[in-house]
Amino acid sequence: MKTVGLLGGMSWESTAGYYKAINEGVKNKLGGLHSAQIAMFSVDFEPIEKLQHQGDWAGTALILSDAARKIEAAGADFLLICTNTMHKVAPQIQEAIRIPILHIADATAEVLVKNGIKTVGLLGTAFTMEQEFYKGRLLENYGLEVIIPNATDRKIVHAVIYNELCVGKILPTSKIEYLRIIAELAKSGAEAVILGCTEISMLVSQSDTTITLYDTTQIHANKAVEEIL
Ligand code: GLU
Repeated sequence: MKTVGLLGGMSWESTAGYYKAINEGVKNKLGGLHSAQIAMFSVDFEPIEKLQHQGDWAGTALILSDAARKIEAAGADFLLICTNTMHKVAPQIQEAIRIPILHIADATAEVLVKNGIKTVGLLGTAFTMEQEFYKGRLLENYGLEVIIPNATDRKIVHAVIYNELCVGKILPTSKIEYLRIIAELAKSGAEAVILGCTEISMLVSQSDTTITLYDTTQIHANKAVEEIL
């Protein structure tokens, strides 16, 4: 069995989901008392969030590269960065280590392509929805057309992530807003919607809507289980 490295803490609320999903995946495949071999470094999110909002991505890359080196030294065979947003600095982190990073957008795109999806809605932080490191990868490497919410709705989606979900607050009013925005994406032509932030599945789940949701936390964890075994 391979050892998975988890670069977590962004936020720890969602990293807890990764820990559970990966262990469940291994247990389901191997049975008995089997569980995953995991080397995790969970960062303090507050300074990273400050750097993100100051646009100091190089500063975030330094912190995360240092954490990734520690995970490699702890014996991980491959690495998951347990957040969509911080894949913005995945190339810098990859340069700091020898073990491969299993990219969250690649894992998600592979499932979408396999299911014949061509046009997909994307929810995530403003960084993920608006910048090219994520959408661009989906389009250029997988031919996926990505639709994002309008500017007002993007602000709502972003604020709920940082002010509520990352601090463990699950509000019914925000759930209603998210479901409205998901429906808008479908109206604009999205065949399915990517929950492109690892906390969103704490708020909405497939049973809340008829629109197919692709939860990046679960997909990334499933991909890790495949790689582990
Ligand atoms: N976990 C979130 C994501 O998947 C947002 C927190 C962060 O900025 O890393 O993008």
